Amino acid sequence: MNKASVYFQSTRSVDTKVRLLEAVQMGLAPDGGLFIPQNMPVVNWDSLSSSSFADCSASFLYQWLSGVMSKTQIDKMIGFALNFDVPMVPLTPRPSDKAVLPTPFVTSLGQAETYVLELFHGPTLSFKDFGARTLAFLLRERLRETKASVTILVATSGDTGSAVADGLSGIEGIRVVLLYPRSQVSLVQEKQLIVKREGVLALRVDGTFDDCQCLVKGAFLDETLSAMHLSTANSINIGRLIPQMLYYVWASKQLQNSVPQFVVPSGNLGNLTAGVMAYKSGLPVTQFVAAHNANDFFPKYLKNKDAVFEPSVQTISNAMDVGAPSNFERLTSLLTQSELSRMIKGISFSNHETLQSMEKVYDETGYIADPHTAVGLAASERVGSEISRKGPTVVLSTAHPAKFPDIVKEAVGVKMAVPPQLTKLSNQPVQVFDLSPSQSELSLAILSHKWNR
Ligand SMILES: *Cc1c(COP(=O)(O)O)cnc(C)c1O
Repeated sequence: MNKASVYFQSTRSVDTKVRLLEAVQMGLAPDGGLFIPQNMPVVNWDSLSSSSFADCSASFLYQWLSGVMSKTQIDKMIGFALNFDVPMVPLTPRPSDKAVLPTPFVTSLGQAETYVLELFHGPTLSFKDFGARTLAFLLRERLRETKASVTILVATSGDTGSAVADGLSGIEGIRVVLLYPRSQVSLVQEKQLIVKREGVLALRVDGTFDDCQCLVKGAFLDETLSAMHLSTANSINIGRLIPQMLYYVWASKQLQNSVPQFVVPSGNLGNLTAGVMAYKSGLPVTQFVAAHNANDFFPKYLKNKDAVFEPSVQTISNAMDVGAPSNFERLTSLLTQSELSRMIKGISFSNHETLQSMEKVYDETGYIADPHTAVGLAASERVGSEISRKGPTVVLSTAHPAKFPDIVKEAVGVKMAVPPQLTKLSNQPVQVFDLSPSQSELSLAILSHKWNR
Protein backbone atom coordinates (compact mmCIF):
# COMPACT_ATOMS: atom_id res chain seq x y z
CA MET A 1 0.00 0.00 0.00
CA ASN A 2 1.23 3.47 -0.79
CA LYS A 3 1.86 5.80 2.06
CA ALA A 4 2.27 9.06 0.20
CA SER A 5 -0.97 10.56 -1.05
CA VAL A 6 -1.46 11.34 -4.70
CA TYR A 7 -0.86 14.82 -6.11
CA PHE A 8 -1.55 16.02 -9.62
CA GLN A 9 0.75 17.66 -12.14
CA SER A 10 0.34 19.02 -15.65
CA THR A 11 1.11 16.93 -18.71
CA ARG A 12 3.27 19.88 -19.82
CA SER A 13 5.46 20.47 -16.78
CA VAL A 14 6.30 18.80 -13.51
CA ASP A 15 6.30 22.12 -11.64
CA THR A 16 2.62 22.32 -10.85
CA LYS A 17 1.67 20.10 -7.96
CA VAL A 18 -1.92 20.41 -6.78
CA ARG A 19 -4.35 18.50 -4.63
CA LEU A 20 -7.29 16.60 -6.12
CA LEU A 21 -9.98 19.18 -5.36
CA GLU A 22 -7.89 22.03 -6.75
CA ALA A 23 -7.31 20.09 -9.96
CA VAL A 24 -11.03 19.37 -10.19
CA GLN A 25 -11.97 23.03 -9.75
CA MET A 26 -9.38 24.22 -12.28
CA GLY A 27 -10.21 21.67 -14.97
CA LEU A 28 -7.18 22.56 -17.08
CA ALA A 29 -3.72 23.17 -15.64
CA PRO A 30 -2.56 26.81 -15.78
CA ASP A 31 -0.10 26.01 -18.60
CA GLY A 32 -2.90 24.54 -20.71
CA GLY A 33 -1.92 20.93 -19.98
CA LEU A 34 -4.08 18.22 -18.44
CA PHE A 35 -3.74 17.00 -14.89
CA ILE A 36 -2.27 13.54 -14.32
CA PRO A 37 -1.28 11.79 -11.10
CA GLN A 38 2.26 12.68 -10.15
CA ASN A 39 2.98 9.22 -8.80
CA MET A 40 0.33 6.75 -9.82
CA PRO A 41 -0.88 4.96 -6.68
CA VAL A 42 -0.58 1.16 -6.95
CA VAL A 43 -3.21 -0.82 -5.09
CA ASN A 44 -2.96 -4.25 -3.55
CA TRP A 45 -5.13 -6.20 -5.99
CA ASP A 46 -5.80 -9.22 -3.81
CA SER A 47 -7.18 -7.10 -1.01
CA LEU A 48 -9.99 -5.65 -3.17
CA SER A 49 -13.56 -6.68 -2.48
CA SER A 50 -15.52 -8.42 -5.24
CA SER A 51 -18.87 -8.57 -3.47
CA SER A 52 -20.53 -5.61 -5.19
CA PHE A 53 -19.58 -2.70 -7.44
CA ALA A 54 -19.87 -0.30 -4.51
CA ASP A 55 -17.73 -2.43 -2.16
CA CYS A 56 -15.16 -3.13 -4.83
CA SER A 57 -14.95 0.57 -5.69
CA ALA A 58 -14.65 1.58 -2.06
CA SER A 59 -11.84 -0.89 -1.41
CA PHE A 60 -10.00 0.44 -4.48
CA LEU A 61 -10.44 4.12 -3.64
CA TYR A 62 -9.50 3.70 0.04
CA GLN A 63 -6.05 2.83 -1.28
CA TRP A 64 -5.93 5.06 -4.37
CA LEU A 65 -7.12 8.17 -2.53
CA SER A 66 -5.44 7.34 0.76
CA GLY A 67 -4.45 10.59 2.45
CA VAL A 68 -6.62 12.55 -0.01
CA MET A 69 -10.11 11.63 1.14
CA SER A 70 -11.22 9.85 4.29
CA LYS A 71 -13.00 6.51 4.12
CA THR A 72 -16.19 8.22 5.25
CA GLN A 73 -15.94 10.76 2.45
CA ILE A 74 -15.25 8.03 -0.09
CA ASP A 75 -18.28 6.06 1.08
CA LYS A 76 -20.36 9.23 0.81
CA MET A 77 -19.10 9.90 -2.69
CA ILE A 78 -19.90 6.39 -3.88
CA GLY A 79 -23.37 6.53 -2.30
CA PHE A 80 -24.08 9.91 -3.90
CA ALA A 81 -22.55 9.44 -7.33
CA LEU A 82 -22.31 5.75 -8.17
CA ASN A 83 -25.55 4.33 -6.83
CA PHE A 84 -26.62 2.34 -9.90
CA ASP A 85 -26.02 -1.16 -11.30
CA VAL A 86 -22.99 -2.13 -13.38
CA PRO A 87 -23.98 -5.52 -14.79
CA MET A 88 -21.56 -7.66 -16.75
CA VAL A 89 -23.58 -9.58 -19.32
CA PRO A 90 -22.13 -12.66 -21.03
CA LEU A 91 -22.92 -12.87 -24.74
CA THR A 92 -24.03 -16.36 -25.63
CA PRO A 93 -25.69 -17.90 -28.68
CA ARG A 94 -29.41 -17.50 -28.62
CA PRO A 95 -31.50 -20.67 -28.62
CA SER A 96 -31.88 -21.80 -32.22
CA ASP A 97 -35.62 -21.27 -32.13
CA LYS A 98 -35.79 -17.57 -32.90
CA ALA A 99 -39.40 -17.44 -31.86
CA VAL A 100 -38.24 -17.62 -28.28
CA LEU A 101 -37.29 -14.01 -27.80
CA PRO A 102 -34.90 -12.92 -26.33
CA THR A 103 -33.27 -14.98 -23.63
CA PRO A 104 -29.65 -14.74 -24.60
CA PHE A 105 -27.99 -14.66 -21.25
CA VAL A 106 -28.11 -18.22 -20.15
CA THR A 107 -24.66 -19.15 -18.94
CA SER A 108 -23.26 -18.02 -15.68
CA LEU A 109 -20.44 -15.53 -15.39
CA GLY A 110 -17.00 -16.99 -16.01
CA GLN A 111 -17.97 -19.31 -18.85
CA ALA A 112 -18.59 -17.00 -21.76
CA GLU A 113 -15.86 -15.54 -23.92
CA THR A 114 -17.31 -12.11 -24.41
CA TYR A 115 -18.97 -9.90 -21.86
CA VAL A 116 -20.75 -6.63 -22.27
CA LEU A 117 -20.08 -4.38 -19.30
CA GLU A 118 -23.19 -2.22 -19.17
CA LEU A 119 -22.26 1.27 -18.04
CA PHE A 120 -25.58 2.87 -18.92
CA HIS A 121 -27.77 2.31 -15.89
CA GLY A 122 -27.33 5.79 -14.42
CA PRO A 123 -29.90 8.60 -14.62
CA THR A 124 -29.01 9.76 -18.16
CA LEU A 125 -28.31 6.29 -19.60
CA SER A 126 -24.67 6.61 -20.65
CA PHE A 127 -21.34 5.97 -18.95
CA LYS A 128 -20.92 9.74 -18.66
CA ASP A 129 -22.98 9.53 -15.46
CA PHE A 130 -20.01 7.97 -13.59
CA GLY A 131 -17.75 10.93 -14.28
CA ALA A 132 -20.34 13.68 -14.15
CA ARG A 133 -21.88 12.61 -10.83
CA THR A 134 -18.52 12.13 -9.17
CA LEU A 135 -17.40 15.49 -10.48
CA ALA A 136 -20.57 17.00 -9.01
CA PHE A 137 -19.73 15.55 -5.60
CA LEU A 138 -16.12 16.72 -5.68
CA LEU A 139 -17.02 20.22 -6.88
CA ARG A 140 -19.63 20.56 -4.17
CA GLU A 141 -17.00 19.63 -1.57
CA ARG A 142 -14.58 22.13 -3.08
CA LEU A 143 -17.09 24.96 -3.19
CA ARG A 144 -18.11 24.34 0.40
CA GLU A 145 -14.45 24.52 1.35
CA THR A 146 -13.75 27.73 -0.56
CA LYS A 147 -17.21 29.38 -0.53
CA ALA A 148 -16.68 30.04 -4.23
CA SER A 149 -18.98 29.65 -7.21
CA VAL A 150 -18.30 28.32 -10.71
CA THR A 151 -19.88 28.35 -14.12
CA ILE A 152 -19.29 25.07 -15.89
CA LEU A 153 -19.18 25.28 -19.66
CA VAL A 154 -19.75 22.03 -21.55
CA ALA A 155 -19.61 21.39 -25.26
CA THR A 156 -21.46 18.16 -25.88
CA SER A 157 -21.81 15.86 -28.85
CA GLY A 158 -24.60 13.96 -27.21
CA ASP A 159 -24.25 12.40 -23.78
CA THR A 160 -21.86 14.50 -21.70
CA GLY A 161 -24.21 17.48 -21.53
CA SER A 162 -27.16 15.71 -20.01
CA ALA A 163 -25.02 13.75 -17.55
CA VAL A 164 -23.31 16.92 -16.36
CA ALA A 165 -26.55 18.93 -16.23
CA ASP A 166 -28.31 16.16 -14.33
CA GLY A 167 -25.43 15.69 -11.89
CA LEU A 168 -24.71 19.36 -11.24
CA SER A 169 -28.18 20.90 -11.35
CA GLY A 170 -29.35 22.43 -8.10
CA ILE A 171 -25.96 22.37 -6.36
CA GLU A 172 -25.28 25.60 -4.54
CA GLY A 173 -22.68 27.76 -6.28
CA ILE A 174 -22.78 25.89 -9.59
CA ARG A 175 -24.14 27.20 -12.88
CA VAL A 176 -24.01 25.03 -16.00
CA VAL A 177 -23.95 26.17 -19.64
CA LEU A 178 -24.47 23.44 -22.26
CA LEU A 179 -23.64 23.92 -25.92
CA TYR A 180 -24.73 21.32 -28.43
CA PRO A 181 -24.75 21.26 -32.24
CA ARG A 182 -28.19 21.65 -33.79
CA SER A 183 -29.36 18.47 -35.53
CA GLN A 184 -26.31 16.43 -34.61
CA VAL A 185 -27.80 14.75 -31.56
CA SER A 186 -30.63 12.22 -31.48
CA LEU A 187 -34.14 13.41 -30.51
CA VAL A 188 -33.92 11.50 -27.25
CA GLN A 189 -30.53 13.02 -26.46
CA GLU A 190 -31.88 16.49 -27.24
CA LYS A 191 -34.84 16.02 -24.94
CA GLN A 192 -32.41 15.00 -22.18
CA LEU A 193 -30.35 18.12 -22.82
CA ILE A 194 -33.12 20.71 -22.79
CA VAL A 195 -35.27 19.55 -19.91
CA LYS A 196 -35.52 22.59 -17.69
CA ARG A 197 -33.13 22.23 -14.77
CA GLU A 198 -32.27 24.55 -11.93
CA GLY A 199 -29.04 26.45 -12.66
CA VAL A 200 -28.68 25.09 -16.20
CA LEU A 201 -28.66 27.08 -19.47
CA ALA A 202 -28.99 25.00 -22.66
CA LEU A 203 -27.79 26.52 -25.94
CA ARG A 204 -28.47 24.99 -29.36
CA VAL A 205 -25.64 26.08 -31.62
CA ASP A 206 -26.05 26.57 -35.33
CA GLY A 207 -22.86 24.68 -36.11
CA THR A 208 -20.86 21.53 -35.44
CA PHE A 209 -19.49 19.99 -32.26
CA ASP A 210 -16.10 21.47 -33.14
CA ASP A 211 -17.75 24.93 -33.22
CA CYS A 212 -19.17 24.29 -29.74
CA GLN A 213 -15.75 23.27 -28.42
CA CYS A 214 -14.21 26.36 -29.99
CA LEU A 215 -16.78 28.61 -28.32
CA VAL A 216 -16.04 27.02 -24.95
CA LYS A 217 -12.31 27.57 -25.36
CA GLY A 218 -12.88 31.13 -26.54
CA ALA A 219 -15.05 31.92 -23.51
CA PHE A 220 -12.09 31.26 -21.22
CA LEU A 221 -10.23 34.11 -22.92
CA ASP A 222 -13.13 36.57 -22.67
CA GLU A 223 -12.53 39.02 -19.83
CA THR A 224 -16.17 40.07 -19.66
CA LEU A 225 -16.88 36.58 -18.31
CA SER A 226 -14.19 36.54 -15.63
CA ALA A 227 -16.67 37.23 -12.83
CA MET A 228 -18.48 34.03 -13.79
CA HIS A 229 -15.49 31.87 -12.72
CA LEU A 230 -15.55 29.55 -15.68
CA SER A 231 -14.52 25.92 -15.50
CA THR A 232 -15.18 22.86 -17.60
CA ALA A 233 -16.61 19.42 -17.12
CA ASN A 234 -15.40 17.84 -20.34
CA SER A 235 -13.28 14.75 -19.89
CA ILE A 236 -10.17 16.87 -19.60
CA ASN A 237 -11.24 17.12 -15.94
CA ILE A 238 -9.37 14.53 -13.87
CA GLY A 239 -12.37 14.31 -11.53
CA ARG A 240 -14.21 12.46 -14.28
CA LEU A 241 -11.53 9.91 -14.97
CA ILE A 242 -11.01 8.66 -11.43
CA PRO A 243 -14.46 7.02 -11.10
CA GLN A 244 -14.09 5.62 -14.60
CA MET A 245 -11.24 3.40 -13.40
CA LEU A 246 -13.66 1.64 -11.08
CA TYR A 247 -15.63 -0.39 -13.60
CA TYR A 248 -12.47 -1.78 -15.16
CA VAL A 249 -11.44 -2.90 -11.70
CA TRP A 250 -14.87 -4.36 -11.00
CA ALA A 251 -14.93 -6.33 -14.29
CA SER A 252 -11.43 -7.72 -13.93
CA LYS A 253 -12.01 -8.57 -10.29
CA GLN A 254 -15.13 -10.58 -11.15
CA LEU A 255 -13.24 -12.63 -13.70
CA GLN A 256 -10.92 -13.73 -10.91
CA ASN A 257 -8.15 -15.83 -12.37
CA SER A 258 -8.55 -15.06 -16.05
CA VAL A 259 -7.07 -11.82 -17.29
CA PRO A 260 -9.32 -9.95 -19.76
CA GLN A 261 -8.80 -7.60 -22.65
CA PHE A 262 -11.00 -4.50 -22.69
CA VAL A 263 -12.64 -3.09 -25.80
CA VAL A 264 -13.42 0.61 -25.44
CA PRO A 265 -15.70 2.52 -27.86
CA SER A 266 -13.70 5.75 -28.06
CA GLY A 267 -13.95 9.39 -29.06
CA ASN A 268 -12.18 11.86 -26.78
CA LEU A 269 -10.20 8.92 -25.31
CA GLY A 270 -11.24 9.68 -21.73
CA ASN A 271 -12.62 6.22 -21.12
CA LEU A 272 -9.51 4.55 -22.51
CA THR A 273 -7.27 6.85 -20.45
CA ALA A 274 -9.15 5.85 -17.31
CA GLY A 275 -8.50 2.20 -18.20
CA VAL A 276 -4.83 2.96 -18.64
CA MET A 277 -4.75 4.70 -15.25
CA ALA A 278 -6.31 1.58 -13.72
CA TYR A 279 -3.69 -0.55 -15.48
CA LYS A 280 -0.90 1.58 -14.04
CA SER A 281 -2.54 1.18 -10.64
CA GLY A 282 -2.46 -2.61 -10.78
CA LEU A 283 -5.41 -3.71 -12.97
CA PRO A 284 -4.83 -7.16 -14.53
CA VAL A 285 -5.43 -6.67 -18.28
CA THR A 286 -3.88 -8.21 -21.39
CA GLN A 287 -4.55 -5.28 -23.72
CA PHE A 288 -6.97 -2.49 -24.60
CA VAL A 289 -8.71 -2.15 -27.93
CA ALA A 290 -9.64 1.42 -28.88
CA ALA A 291 -12.71 1.05 -31.12
CA HIS A 292 -13.41 4.14 -33.23
CA ASN A 293 -15.89 5.18 -35.90
CA ALA A 294 -14.82 7.07 -39.04
CA ASN A 295 -13.11 9.60 -36.78
CA ASP A 296 -10.02 7.43 -36.71
CA PHE A 297 -7.06 9.63 -35.81
CA PHE A 298 -5.99 7.39 -32.93
CA PRO A 299 -5.99 4.03 -34.78
CA LYS A 300 -4.02 5.79 -37.52
CA TYR A 301 -1.59 7.19 -34.97
CA LEU A 302 -0.95 3.75 -33.49
CA LYS A 303 0.12 2.57 -36.92
CA ASN A 304 1.96 5.71 -37.93
CA LYS A 305 3.20 8.29 -35.43
CA ASP A 306 2.99 11.03 -38.07
CA ALA A 307 -0.82 10.94 -38.14
CA VAL A 308 -2.45 14.33 -37.48
CA PHE A 309 -5.79 15.49 -36.05
CA GLU A 310 -8.53 15.96 -38.60
CA PRO A 311 -11.90 17.77 -38.57
CA SER A 312 -14.65 15.54 -37.17
CA VAL A 313 -17.14 13.82 -39.43
CA GLN A 314 -20.71 12.99 -38.47
CA THR A 315 -21.57 9.31 -37.85
CA ILE A 316 -24.34 7.26 -36.25
CA SER A 317 -22.21 6.88 -33.10
CA ASN A 318 -22.32 10.64 -32.58
CA ALA A 319 -20.73 10.76 -29.11
CA MET A 320 -17.54 9.44 -30.71
CA ASP A 321 -17.40 12.06 -33.47
CA VAL A 322 -14.19 13.67 -32.29
CA GLY A 323 -11.44 14.68 -34.67
CA ALA A 324 -8.95 15.90 -32.08
CA PRO A 325 -9.27 13.72 -28.94
CA SER A 326 -8.51 15.91 -25.94
CA ASN A 327 -7.21 13.04 -23.80
CA PHE A 328 -4.60 12.08 -26.36
CA GLU A 329 -2.11 14.32 -24.59
CA ARG A 330 -2.84 12.61 -21.29
CA LEU A 331 -2.65 9.12 -22.72
CA THR A 332 0.73 9.72 -24.30
CA SER A 333 2.04 11.20 -21.03
CA LEU A 334 0.98 8.13 -19.09
CA LEU A 335 2.45 5.52 -21.43
CA THR A 336 5.77 5.30 -23.21
CA GLN A 337 5.73 4.63 -26.95
CA SER A 338 6.58 0.99 -26.42
CA GLU A 339 3.87 0.56 -23.80
CA LEU A 340 1.40 2.21 -26.17
CA SER A 341 2.12 -0.23 -28.95
CA ARG A 342 2.17 -3.19 -26.63
CA MET A 343 -0.99 -2.39 -24.64
CA ILE A 344 -3.30 -0.67 -27.13
CA LYS A 345 -4.70 -1.76 -30.42
CA GLY A 346 -6.79 0.64 -32.51
CA ILE A 347 -9.52 -0.22 -35.00
CA SER A 348 -12.16 1.85 -36.79
CA PHE A 349 -15.48 1.05 -38.43
CA SER A 350 -17.83 2.73 -40.89
CA ASN A 351 -21.52 3.41 -40.26
CA HIS A 352 -22.37 0.47 -42.44
CA GLU A 353 -20.16 -1.88 -40.44
CA THR A 354 -21.65 -0.53 -37.22
CA LEU A 355 -25.20 -1.32 -38.37
CA GLN A 356 -24.05 -4.75 -39.53
CA SER A 357 -22.52 -5.40 -36.13
CA MET A 358 -25.78 -4.46 -34.38
CA GLU A 359 -27.68 -6.81 -36.64
CA LYS A 360 -25.23 -9.70 -36.33
CA VAL A 361 -24.98 -9.54 -32.57
CA TYR A 362 -28.75 -9.40 -32.29
CA ASP A 363 -29.24 -12.33 -34.67
CA GLU A 364 -26.67 -14.47 -32.94
CA THR A 365 -27.25 -13.62 -29.31
CA GLY A 366 -30.43 -11.58 -28.99
CA TYR A 367 -28.45 -8.72 -27.50
CA ILE A 368 -29.47 -5.20 -28.54
CA ALA A 369 -26.50 -2.85 -28.59
CA ASP A 370 -26.55 0.90 -29.15
CA PRO A 371 -24.45 2.17 -32.08
CA HIS A 372 -21.47 3.10 -29.86
CA THR A 373 -21.34 -0.29 -28.15
CA ALA A 374 -21.77 -1.86 -31.60
CA VAL A 375 -18.48 -0.32 -32.70
CA GLY A 376 -16.89 -2.06 -29.71
CA LEU A 377 -18.57 -5.36 -30.52
CA ALA A 378 -17.35 -5.14 -34.11
CA ALA A 379 -13.83 -4.56 -32.81
CA SER A 380 -14.04 -7.49 -30.43
CA GLU A 381 -15.06 -9.74 -33.28
CA ARG A 382 -12.27 -8.57 -35.54
CA VAL A 383 -9.61 -8.91 -32.85
CA GLY A 384 -10.96 -12.32 -31.93
CA SER A 385 -10.63 -13.55 -35.49
CA GLU A 386 -7.15 -12.11 -35.99
CA ILE A 387 -5.28 -13.97 -33.29
CA SER A 388 -6.14 -16.90 -31.12
CA ARG A 389 -6.56 -15.20 -27.81
CA LYS A 390 -6.54 -16.61 -24.37
CA GLY A 391 -8.78 -15.00 -21.81
CA PRO A 392 -12.12 -13.24 -21.97
CA THR A 393 -13.04 -10.03 -23.74
CA VAL A 394 -14.93 -7.28 -21.94
CA VAL A 395 -16.65 -4.79 -24.26
CA LEU A 396 -17.61 -1.58 -22.52
CA SER A 397 -21.20 -0.67 -23.33
CA THR A 398 -21.31 3.10 -23.23
CA ALA A 399 -24.96 3.99 -23.87
CA HIS A 400 -28.44 2.52 -23.53
CA PRO A 401 -29.88 1.49 -26.92
CA ALA A 402 -33.13 3.30 -26.10
CA LYS A 403 -31.28 6.59 -26.63
CA PHE A 404 -31.12 5.69 -30.34
CA PRO A 405 -34.51 4.15 -31.14
CA ASP A 406 -34.42 4.96 -34.87
CA ILE A 407 -31.03 3.40 -35.47
CA VAL A 408 -31.95 0.33 -33.43
CA LYS A 409 -35.14 -0.03 -35.44
CA GLU A 410 -33.21 0.24 -38.68
CA ALA A 411 -30.54 -2.27 -37.68
CA VAL A 412 -32.49 -4.97 -35.87
CA GLY A 413 -36.14 -4.17 -36.58
CA VAL A 414 -37.04 -3.96 -32.92
CA LYS A 415 -38.85 -1.13 -31.19
CA MET A 416 -37.08 -0.52 -27.90
CA ALA A 417 -38.99 -0.40 -24.65
CA VAL A 418 -38.52 3.03 -23.10
CA PRO A 419 -36.69 2.90 -19.75
CA PRO A 420 -38.10 4.83 -16.77
CA GLN A 421 -35.26 7.39 -16.93
CA LEU A 422 -36.76 8.54 -20.25
CA THR A 423 -40.50 8.16 -19.63
CA LYS A 424 -39.99 10.47 -16.68
CA LEU A 425 -38.90 13.24 -19.05
CA SER A 426 -41.86 13.19 -21.38
CA ASN A 427 -44.05 15.63 -19.47
CA GLN A 428 -41.34 17.92 -18.18
CA PRO A 429 -40.99 21.50 -19.43
CA VAL A 430 -38.03 22.27 -21.68
CA GLN A 431 -35.96 25.41 -22.19
CA VAL A 432 -33.36 26.04 -24.87
CA PHE A 433 -31.96 29.12 -26.62
CA ASP A 434 -30.61 29.23 -30.16
CA LEU A 435 -27.12 30.58 -30.68
CA SER A 436 -25.08 31.31 -33.77
CA PRO A 437 -21.44 30.29 -33.39
CA SER A 438 -20.32 33.73 -32.25
CA GLN A 439 -18.19 34.44 -29.19
CA SER A 440 -19.94 37.70 -28.34
CA GLU A 441 -23.38 36.09 -28.60
CA LEU A 442 -22.28 33.37 -26.21
CA SER A 443 -20.97 35.87 -23.66
CA LEU A 444 -24.18 37.86 -23.90
CA ALA A 445 -26.31 34.74 -23.47
CA ILE A 446 -24.40 33.78 -20.32
CA LEU A 447 -24.36 37.25 -18.80
CA SER A 448 -27.98 38.09 -19.53
CA HIS A 449 -29.43 34.78 -18.37
CA LYS A 450 -31.59 34.97 -15.26
CA TRP A 451 -29.53 32.62 -13.12
CA ASN A 452 -31.41 33.05 -9.92
CA ARG A 453 -34.04 30.49 -9.38
C1 LIG B 1 -18.61 9.94 -24.72
C2 LIG B 1 -19.00 8.66 -25.32
C3 LIG B 1 -18.07 7.79 -25.92
C4 LIG B 1 -16.61 8.15 -26.07
O1 LIG B 1 -15.94 8.19 -24.84
P1 LIG B 1 -14.55 8.98 -24.71
O2 LIG B 1 -14.21 8.94 -23.28
O3 LIG B 1 -14.82 10.37 -25.21
O4 LIG B 1 -13.57 8.28 -25.58
C5 LIG B 1 -18.52 6.57 -26.39
N1 LIG B 1 -19.82 6.22 -26.32
C6 LIG B 1 -20.74 7.02 -25.77
C7 LIG B 1 -22.15 6.58 -25.74
C8 LIG B 1 -20.38 8.27 -25.24
O5 LIG B 1 -21.31 9.07 -24.69
